[in-house]
Amino acid sequence: MSKPKPLAAISLDLDNLWAYMKIHGDEGWDKYPSYFDIFIPYVLDLLDELKLKITFFIVGKDTESEENRKYLRMITDRGHEVGNHSYYHESWLQTYSYEEIEKEIIAAELAIERATGQKPKGFRGPGFSWSKNLLRVLESRGYLYDASTLPTYLGPLARLYYFWKSDLSKEEKRARKELFGKFSEGFRKLKPYYWKLGDEKRIAEIPVTTMPIFKFPFHLSYLLYLSNISTGLMKLYLNIAIFLCKVTYTPISFLLHPLDIIGGDQITQLSFFPGMNVRSERKVRIFWEVISLLKGKYTLVNISEFQNGL
Ligand SMILES: [Zn+2]
Repeated sequence: MSKPKPLAAISLDLDNLWAYMKIHGDEGWDKYPSYFDIFIPYVLDLLDELKLKITFFIVGKDTESEENRKYLRMITDRGHEVGNHSYYHESWLQTYSYEEIEKEIIAAELAIERATGQKPKGFRGPGFSWSKNLLRVLESRGYLYDASTLPTYLGPLARLYYFWKSDLSKEEKRARKELFGKFSEGFRKLKPYYWKLGDEKRIAEIPVTTMPIFKFPFHLSYLLYLSNISTGLMKLYLNIAIFLCKVTYTPISFLLHPLDIIGGDQITQLSFFPGMNVRSERKVRIFWEVISLLKGKYTLVNISEFQNGL
């Protein structure tokens, strides 16, 4: 009998239309416009076709409208896990005091549970922001894992690129000065581990996997970018990443974002956004190829199952 395939985790940060507009500094984001009516049924059908059950990280603010709640409920009805992605999706949680972060986590957690019928067991900070205070709050609320770290040296470069592409004012840039993390994030461990929080308290960390040794990100946004140069190059890059994970015994936690899967032809408000000139059809084809490649080597599950199997 052949050996069962190792587990790999798949998760999606359910950033809504307004969250993209906010990070980009576009007017009107504070009316909290939503594209859930288009995106959620679309992605759920796609995941069904691929026979995938994944983790969706949800933003608390998005549960406030009844329309949004209708779509959020579909996520758990179709068998997916939900995680906490903060209440206001502010990418500088590391500047919050313990009390501020506690308020944020609890508000989001209750809102997500009310909307989806499922209590989140995991958390991912917006823009990979996190702090020791955050971990302590998560532990005190009974969370099983944090999934906020992205060990890469490229964070400062990604931030410069974002600022360059955005219309942010000086003040807005100052508030976002640690967006995507510091260079030192690259020295963080790639394999899942436990944060020790004193008094025998601990919480699991499930980093977003980057390429072992080089720490280059290979989540879907990066793969999609490479595929615009050449699909062959994208596959080569992903195969190298998988190979390096295999030889270093690094389990894979793979990250998706809505704009990796849906194009500017469907979400017209974001057609100016980087990568949104690519049509949905093409994005789906790339997504399909990436998932097939991963499926060849791994059993793909949500983060809770992944963590259980470690
Ligand atoms: Zn996000």
